[in-house]
Amino acid sequence: MANFLTTSDGHFVDNPRYARVGVDRLSAAQQVLVRKQRGSNNRLGLRETVANRHRKVANQRRDFYHKVARRLVKEYDVPVVEDLRVANMSRRAKAKPDPENPGQLPPNVASAKIGPNRSFNDSGWAQFRSILEAKAEDAGRTVMSVNPRHTSQTCHECGHVDAGNRVSQARFLCRRCGHEAHADVNAARNILGAGLALLVAQAT
Ligand SMILES: [Zn+2]
Repeated sequence: MANFLTTSDGHFVDNPRYARVGVDRLSAAQQVLVRKQRGSNNRLGLRETVANRHRKVANQRRDFYHKVARRLVKEYDVPVVEDLRVANMSRRAKAKPDPENPGQLPPNVASAKIGPNRSFNDSGWAQFRSILEAKAEDAGRTVMSVNPRHTSQTCHECGHVDAGNRVSQARFLCRRCGHEAHADVNAARNILGAGLALLVAQAT
């Protein structure tokens, strides 16, 4: 996870360093805790340390989300984010059947895919999103959310969709038109485009 967030105009928000350090310290303390004898004073003290560190990391992460959300709402009129809930397996199980076609799930839900270790990121992203939505609402704006499907494989210049367009984690190089960009910026532009198309569709 190189960046926490990338904007369509090429700004990157790094994952906060203190949160990563906090997590490292946390697991070190937990490992010590596992080795300590049950019921010993030392173990009880350590358990408190682990709980405190959990709390501290959670607070730091929440503060970070608030800071980023404040900045986004201040700088952008139309925040568009990818809806990772579409790609969430547990949600998929709970999805309501389409009343027109009983027994069939909505197509965008049924075709969702998910990486094996996304759950941690997804829960953080969900927390960030609800903070962003609350701040946008205070400012009289709405956060648009779009299906992230193919947004990282699609060339923003010519629309060519190909998994091979993404040469590496960071580099996008279109096999058809040769357009080159940071892969996350290219994806963010596609997400913005989809959000704006949705806005236009809602207005007509
Ligand atoms: Zn292209």
